[in-house]
Amino acid sequence: MSASPSVSGKASESYDVVVVGAGFAGMYMLHKLRGQGFSARVYEQGDGVGGTWYWNRYPGARCDVESMQYSYSFSEELQQEWDWSERYAPQPEILKYANHVADRFGLRPDIQFNTTVERAEFDERTNLWSVALSDGKIVTAKFVVLATGCLSNARMPEIKGLDRFEGKVYHTGHWPHEIVDFTGQRVGVIGTGSSGIQSVPVIAEQASHLTVFQRTANFSIPARNAMLTEEERQAFRAKYPEVRQFARTESRNGIYTEMPDRGALDDGDNERRSKYEARWTRGGLTFMSVYNNLALDQTANDTAADFVREKIAEIVKDPEKAKLLQPNNHPIGSKRICIDTEYFATFNRPNVTLVDIKSNPIEEITASAVRTGGKDYEVDALVLATGFDAMTGSVAKIDIRGRNGQTLNQKWAEGPRTYLGLMSAGFPNLFVITGPGSPSVLSNMIVSIEQHVDWITGCVSYMRDRGFEAMEAKKDAEDNWVAHVNEVAYTTLYPQANSWYMGANVPGKPRIFMPYIGGVGPYRQICDDVAAKGYEGFALTGAEQPRKMAVSS
Ligand code: FAD
Ligand code: NAP
Repeated sequence: MSASPSVSGKASESYDVVVVGAGFAGMYMLHKLRGQGFSARVYEQGDGVGGTWYWNRYPGARCDVESMQYSYSFSEELQQEWDWSERYAPQPEILKYANHVADRFGLRPDIQFNTTVERAEFDERTNLWSVALSDGKIVTAKFVVLATGCLSNARMPEIKGLDRFEGKVYHTGHWPHEIVDFTGQRVGVIGTGSSGIQSVPVIAEQASHLTVFQRTANFSIPARNAMLTEEERQAFRAKYPEVRQFARTESRNGIYTEMPDRGALDDGDNERRSKYEARWTRGGLTFMSVYNNLALDQTANDTAADFVREKIAEIVKDPEKAKLLQPNNHPIGSKRICIDTEYFATFNRPNVTLVDIKSNPIEEITASAVRTGGKDYEVDALVLATGFDAMTGSVAKIDIRGRNGQTLNQKWAEGPRTYLGLMSAGFPNLFVITGPGSPSVLSNMIVSIEQHVDWITGCVSYMRDRGFEAMEAKKDAEDNWVAHVNEVAYTTLYPQANSWYMGANVPGKPRIFMPYIGGVGPYRQICDDVAAKGYEGFALTGAEQPRKMAVSS
């Protein structure tokens, strides 16, 4: 056991539920709990709502799921009245939407901003959580919901000399609130995942010179972003019942699109090529759902990967640069595919240099340059698009203690263990939204967030109505679920990539495929069945006589 202090002291306030985080998950959780008469308090370390869209303000940031779908579905009025301006809304607009939701549903009075949840300890005698906050207060709650986000713990790379760099350093996941103007500057971008790929074309427009330091080339599909017309918005709104229903119950990834009925090798070369061409022209994530076996069969996957590599060679004029930009060490889609606007074409600009740091890793960062391959690339500013300690990073930062004083970090030392991605044995009344072991980051996340929030609300209401005091995942149910999550993952090509899905981007992090790849629709069915069977696989304990939990007015 670690020697860090336990949560002791007099609790100042008490709630039915403490929710950690005020992104899309925490906001909807609060709304839903209040609707069921629970008292709830949200703590958010930032000074505003929106989570991802509050922190990731880098140039070019926008969603990769179309906005008409990357939006809440729980309020018919909201989805009918909100006007998305573009096919993929830019970050400021998504943040405006989050703020609109907070105001529209009167959420702010129950959210405490600028407050980090530092520790949470379960008291086995009272079945209450004591939660320690960065303002020094301790509050108690029957339930704690971690809405801490899967991509909320920005990761600084360990590069020698970074702290001695005299120019400005920005991380895409922790971007300043004031406008950053790169006009006339020499900028270096390290990292070519989705954040790098979105920001590079925009920074190249501003900077006098942009140097992109690439370790791993990534697959990217054009977004084909465009303004939405009123007719397009209306047409989409009219079919919302069908779209949302499909996304929730039938889709694999929470996105409304045609379901593929055949594999890539069932078509001849010409037919296959014309299908890829049509999806490339349409743009967006649905490129990967043209066939039903791209994630399963290496030969099928190669046909899609080759197509994209050919496109890169067509777009990028310098054959050497094109070759460097062609991904060659992972199956297409085994890392979250990127969606871009003019990313590859940006390397045709005279003010953009591509540096291969796979062959020549960065040696060090000096006061004014990035040194690699014995050469100094002089820069005035550095943009670190180096990603996140994903899925478990923000949970691990909280000192969570369950039964017998065991910490969640101890329990998850060899990788996260959950039942349904929702709870972990030994940590009663503690829920995670879009946690490891659920479809989460493999999906349109708002669909997965809404499903978890609805399920958790149903669960705590069930407990209240029947007088249960504590609910906890059973160890055997958890073991079976973890085995199932792994088994399904290893029927696919995903584990072949050194991705953040596998924890491979963080040195020393256990290599486990963290999300559940069984599909959004099937997963929902499993969760609903578990609930229908009186929360099968969970131990419910409590008063013999049903009694009501304290309900706030
Ligand atoms: P977050 O939005 O991450 O919110 C979690 C909040 O919890 C944060 O505000 C954080 O400050 C707070 N928090 C964490 N720990 C603590 C603590 N200890 N105490 C207090 N507060 C805490 N998904 C898609 O489906 N489609 C997309 O197009 C898409 N685009 C993305 C673009 C970017 C740049 C990134 C980084 C992610 C993107 N994602 C996308 C994933 C995105 O994270 C989710 O869609 C969604 O916004 C997550 O919402 P959330 O509320 O679960 O988490
Ligand atoms: P990421 O996918 O993890 O990419 C990080 C990049 O930084 C990789 O190219 C990585 O190289 C590189 N890198 C990390 N450490 C490095 C080091 N020490 N030296 C050199 N290079 C280093 O992170 P991200 O781009 O922020 O995206 C994370 C996820 O957020 C996405 O997959 C997506 O789910 C979401 N996102 C979505 C959008 C969107 O389009 N809406 C935009 C941004 C983010 P290696 O690959 O070699 O490790």
